Amino acid sequence: MRTIRGQPYSNLSMRILIVEDDPTLADGLMRSLYQSGYALDVAANGEMAHNMLKDADYDLAILDLGLPKMDGLEVLRRLRQRGGKTPVLILTARDAIESRVQGLDLGADDYLTKPFNLVELEARIRALLRRGKMGSNALLACGKLSFDAVGKRALIDGNVVELSARELGVLEVLMLRQSKVVNKEQIMGALYNWDDDIGDNAIEVYIHRLRKKIEASGAHIRTIRGLGYLLEHE
Ligand code: CA
Repeated sequence: MRTIRGQPYSNLSMRILIVEDDPTLADGLMRSLYQSGYALDVAANGEMAHNMLKDADYDLAILDLGLPKMDGLEVLRRLRQRGGKTPVLILTARDAIESRVQGLDLGADDYLTKPFNLVELEARIRALLRRGKMGSNALLACGKLSFDAVGKRALIDGNVVELSARELGVLEVLMLRQSKVVNKEQIMGALYNWDDDIGDNAIEVYIHRLRKKIEASGAHIRTIRGLGYLLEHE
């Protein structure tokens, strides 16, 4: 692993991980992005990339797909599986349409086909970094519990919580109206698409399950007798 820090004149203090096993290409990317003032790390194989993405908080990863030790798609799959939100730009061979589609399905944010133009790469990087900053606003938080309103999933300390679609629906309403009482009609309204005849009892069941599943986050669903429920954290 090599780390170099971009020049201080830059107004960006963005950290990018370059995952590329071809040393000539990795070097070219390093040189070009260094000039633009980014802080850079390079991983020369998939396993290394996987570990670095796990240990550090990157603003962006440029990911080659054909890698020794662990395939690029597997690196991406593991990153998204543990709730990692780092924007990922994949580098694919011109004819590898299938892996490009697979990459986007697995949560890549953009792709470039090799050989690519460095000016174009930098334009894509800037776009992803801008989008990445805005995207983080879509995350609602309550203590250690966070809710990704775009990706429709809940996380505790960055780890995805296994929830059914209806449990997610209930949690989303509670997260959106955090620290306010949410009544059963509002919860039913949010679940309307899922089931036409949800009774009071069903809601109580979802709330009961949710309480258990989010327990470790410190967030708590309080019952306000006769009024509804309220999500809060200590
Ligand atoms: Ca390669």
